[in-house]
Amino acid sequence: MQNLDDIAKEVKACTKCHLSKTRTNAVPGEGNKQAEIIFIGEAPGYHEDIQGRPFVGQAGKVLDNLLREIGLERKNVYIANIIKCRPPGNRDPQPDEINTCIPYLLEQIKIIKPKVICTLGRFSFAEMMQRKVFISSEHGKPFKTGKENRLGEGLSIFPLYHPAAVLHQPGLMDALEEDFKKLHAFLISPPPKEEVQKIKENPLASIYKNKNVNETTQKKEKQLGLF
Ligand code: URA
Repeated sequence: MQNLDDIAKEVKACTKCHLSKTRTNAVPGEGNKQAEIIFIGEAPGYHEDIQGRPFVGQAGKVLDNLLREIGLERKNVYIANIIKCRPPGNRDPQPDEINTCIPYLLEQIKIIKPKVICTLGRFSFAEMMQRKVFISSEHGKPFKTGKENRLGEGLSIFPLYHPAAVLHQPGLMDALEEDFKKLHAFLISPPPKEEVQKIKENPLASIYKNKNVNETTQKKEKQLGLF
C-alpha cells in the first residue's frame, strides 16, 4: 500500500489528464497525516497552482480564520481537493478529469482514516456522497456513508459551504461560521451511531439537542488532540 508521500510524488508527476499540460504545479494536499478531519475543496485555483499547496489564496484565508475560531490550525487537519490540478480559468472540473483524478483522493482518505470528511462546497459534497445534493438545505449536518459508498460504510461527511462562496456572497458568512460551531460540537461529542442518518435519508436536525457540551468538552477535546 502506498503512503501519503508516495501519492504526493505521483500526483506531482501525473500526466493522466490534459490538465497536466496547463498546470504550473499539481496540488496533492497537505496537513496532518493522522488527521481526524479532512477538508475537501473542489480544485486548485490560481495561487494554489503557483504554490502547489491547497487553499492558500483568499478562500484559504477564510478557511484559516474559520479553523482558528474553533481552535484548530492547518497542522491539526488535512486539506485536499477533488482534483489535483487547476482547471484553466478556474472553470468547473469536467467529469473525465474527476474520474481520472479521484482515485488519488480516495486513496488519501483510506490512508488517513479520518473521523470526519468536511466537504467545502456543493461540488465536493456531491462527489463524496455520490448523489445529487442540496447544499442550501443540507449544509451543517452530518451524514454517514452507507455500504454503497466507494469509501465504505460509516464515514461521517459534514457538508459546509465553500469558503470562496462568502467572498461573492458575504451573507453566507454567518451560516458558515454557525456550521463550524456545529462541526466543533460534532467533533467533541459525536452523536450515537443510530442517530446519524444514512445517505439519502433526511438530515437529523436534533443531534445537538440535549447535549451538555461544556460538561464533557475538555475531556473529549483532549482525547481528539484538538487543542
Ligand atoms: N478552492 C478550492 O476548491 N480549492 C483550493 O485549493 C483553493 C480554492
